[in-house]
Amino acid sequence: MHPGLKVFIGAFMVVLGIFASLTYSTEILNFTQAVIGPLLVIVGAFIIWLESDEWKLRMQKDTDRGFDIQQRLETKKEKSKKKEKEHQETETSTRNKCPVCGKEFDTERGMKIHKAQKHA
Ligand SMILES: [Zn+2]
Repeated sequence: MHPGLKVFIGAFMVVLGIFASLTYSTEILNFTQAVIGPLLVIVGAFIIWLESDEWKLRMQKDTDRGFDIQQRLETKKEKSKKKEKEHQETETSTRNKCPVCGKEFDTERGMKIHKAQKHA
C-alpha cells in the first residue's frame, strides 16, 4: 500500500474517532464508569493471587531455614562430587582406548600415534 494512502486513512480514522467521541461522549463516560468496577475486581483478584503465592513461598522458606537447608546442601554437594568421580572414571577408562583394536593408552596422544601407525 502507498504510504500516502495509509496516512490519509489514518487521518480519516482520527477525524472519525474525534467525531464519534464528541457524539457519544456521554456513552463513553458511562462505559468508562461501567468498566471501572469489573476492572478493579480483576486487578484486585490478580494481586491477591500473585501475592498469596509469594507469601506461601516465603513461609515455606522460613520453616526450612537452618540446619535442614545446610544438610540438604551437603548431600547435594556429595552427590555432585560422586557424579564427577564417576564421570572422570568413565572418561579415563574410555578416553585413550583404540577404537579399532581396543588397546588402552596412558595418553590420547599415544593412542592417536598408535592408530596412525597400526591402522592407517
Ligand atoms: Zn589399535
